[in-house]
Order: sequence, then structure tokens, then C-alpha cells
Amino acid sequence: MTLQLIKKAEEKHSLTKEELVLLLQDNSINEELFSAADRVRKKYMGDEVHLRGIIEFSNKCKQDCLYCGLRASNKNIERYRLMPDEIIDLAKKAVGYGYKTVVMQSGEDAYYTVERLQYIISTLKEFGIAVTLSLGEKTFEEYKAYKEAGADRYLLRIETTDKELYEQLDPGMFHEDRKRCLRDLKTLGYEVGTGSLVGLPGQTIESLADDILFFKEIDADMIGLGPFIPNDDTPLKGAASGDFTMSLKVMALVRLLLPDVNIPATTAMETLNKQGRIIALQSGANIVMPNVTEGDYRKMYALYPGKICVNDTPGHCVQCITGKIKSIGRTVSKSKGSRTKKNTSE
Ligand code: SAH
Ligand code: SF4
Repeated sequence: MTLQLIKKAEEKHSLTKEELVLLLQDNSINEELFSAADRVRKKYMGDEVHLRGIIEFSNKCKQDCLYCGLRASNKNIERYRLMPDEIIDLAKKAVGYGYKTVVMQSGEDAYYTVERLQYIISTLKEFGIAVTLSLGEKTFEEYKAYKEAGADRYLLRIETTDKELYEQLDPGMFHEDRKRCLRDLKTLGYEVGTGSLVGLPGQTIESLADDILFFKEIDADMIGLGPFIPNDDTPLKGAASGDFTMSLKVMALVRLLLPDVNIPATTAMETLNKQGRIIALQSGANIVMPNVTEGDYRKMYALYPGKICVNDTPGHCVQCITGKIKSIGRTVSKSKGSRTKKNTSE
């Protein structure tokens, strides 16, 4: 029965919530699910893996998400913020390593005014790369100003589609605002990345199925999924960690239902499994986001513990990931890897 559902999803790219729940619950079909997702990835996206260099430019955040080490109430973390020209220098180096996309990520840090961001974005665009932002919730006007400066993409995870759970875990934030942001970004012509944390305390299998249907409903262009990893410096210390296999299953189902979207093999997956990113690349993913932040800042950007590669240099990371990608018969793309919609109905 569940095997037939995988076949249906591979051919039609459609499943009901009930069918998704059945597949998420049944662990006897995992290998077949991962292979099906790998076939769909190959058919629609080919063997190229796109690398996005991520710059974690500030760990200061005004929000207080219960799961995150950067939350404003965490006093056990040393804060840092890179100046605009330091960010530009890192981006220049990223271009030197061959990255065609730079992702600028931070906590919600008011220092980066529209003016400062416009300066950074427009300078980065002169390097001929795609610019992705991941700065949290902003107003329509702010998103518009970044777009006009040249930003191409924006990453904002919905985290969970369970409104009650979201508002409990993100005090002072509202699920409706998060959705408004995603709508605004689409309206403004960004390629929109979203995604969820898998294994949050109180999260149900049904709500994970809802997450997958939500990504399809909003026509997301990129979907990042990672396990929740409890952080000792947050109120969720002591909570159970998210499960690697469940994260991989959600990711594989996303590939079956949204065959032509970009899906990263996330860092959090590799934190739970030494081969996590390679396994993800063989179960539906086609993107890797190596870190191009330098020195101690890598350690200080502590969303969760056990983050990989905190003692490595950006130069080492590019070599390491390129080697891993080649070892599984895939190639590193030389293009920007924007989403191109494909006919998925045949
Ligand atoms: N402030 C921005 C971007 C930085 S946070 C934002 O919130 O959108 C980037 C992502 O880190 C979040 O979307 C969240 O899904 C993830 N994250 C935070 N805490 C985590 C944890 N404990 N385990 C796994 N991922 C976590
Ligand atoms: Fe801030 Fe993002 Fe962490 Fe929430 S998840 S506390 S918004 S950095």
C-alpha cells in the first residue's frame, strides 16, 4: 500500500495529507522513498550540485525563539557583528572560491538599516553573483528596497505550519506575520526559500504533512529542512533532539511533491550524522551551503550545538565538499542555479 503511494508520488507529484502521514509513519519503506526522491532529483535537476557560500554576519537578534542560541535572552553567548566592508570582503573571497551565490544570514539586527544593506547588496551584485538574504521578518517596503538594490532570493523558514506551536516557540511573533512576509517576498519577485524544523517538541506527524503541503501551496522555490537540535543555552535544553531519518523523510517527500525546487542538504543534518549531507544529496537534495564566515565567528554563530566545520577555513570547506560531491558521481555546478520551473505534469 505505502509502496504504491511512493510510486504515485513519483509519477504524479501529488499526495493527500493522509497519504503523507502514512508514509511518514511507515519506516519499512524508507529506502524505497529515498531512492524514488533520488530518481526524481536526477530527472528534474540533473547531477549538478549548486554551492551557496553563506556569510553569518551578525549573531545579534531582537527575537527570542525558544529553540535558538541567538535569542535575545541568551546571555551566555558572545555577540559579534561584521561591518559592511568586512561582509563585502568575505563575499569577494567567496567569489574567489568559485561560489556563484552568496547567502547573507544573521539574527534580526537593527544595525543593518536599509541604507547599509542596499550598499552591501549593490556592491555584491557588481561581482556578478546571485545574492540571497536571510535576515528574518521585515516590512514590505524593506523587502522592496533590498530587491531594488539587487537581491535575488530570500530565505525565511515557516519553521512549522502549526500556528499554536509556532507562537508558543516564538514568543512575540505571529504565524500570520510569517506568512505575510513569504507572500510579500513572492509578490516582489524574489525566489523564495522556506522550510521547517523537524522534531520540535510538541510537533506532530500530521503537522509535518501540513508543512509539505504548505510549501506546495505557496509555490516555494527552495525548501530547507533540518532537525531541531536542542541548545543548552535555551529554554528547550533537555528536550529530545529531532530525528535524522525523519528529517530525511520529510525532505524526500518534498522532492517527490515539488520535483523542480532547490533543496539543500542542510548543515543541521550533518550535525546529527557524519555523512548527513551526502546522504541527503542521495535522497533528493541538490544544494549545499558551505560556510564562508571566518575565524571565531563560526563558533559564535551558535544556533545549536555541535555545528560542523567550526574550526575549518572557507578554503578548506570548498575543497572538502567538492571532494565529497565528486565521490558520489555528482558535479559542482558553474551556474547560479536559479529555480527554473519545469513541466511536472507529464
Ligand atoms: N534570523 C533569521 C535567520 C537566522 S536563523 C531567521 O530566523 O529567519 C536560521 C534558521 O536556524 C532558523 O530558521 C531555524 O530554523 C534554524 N535554527 C535555529 N535554532 C535551531 C536549532 N536549535 N536547531 C536547528 N535549527 C535551528
Ligand atoms: Fe533570531 Fe532567527 Fe534565532 Fe529566531 S531563529 S532567535 S529570529 S536568529
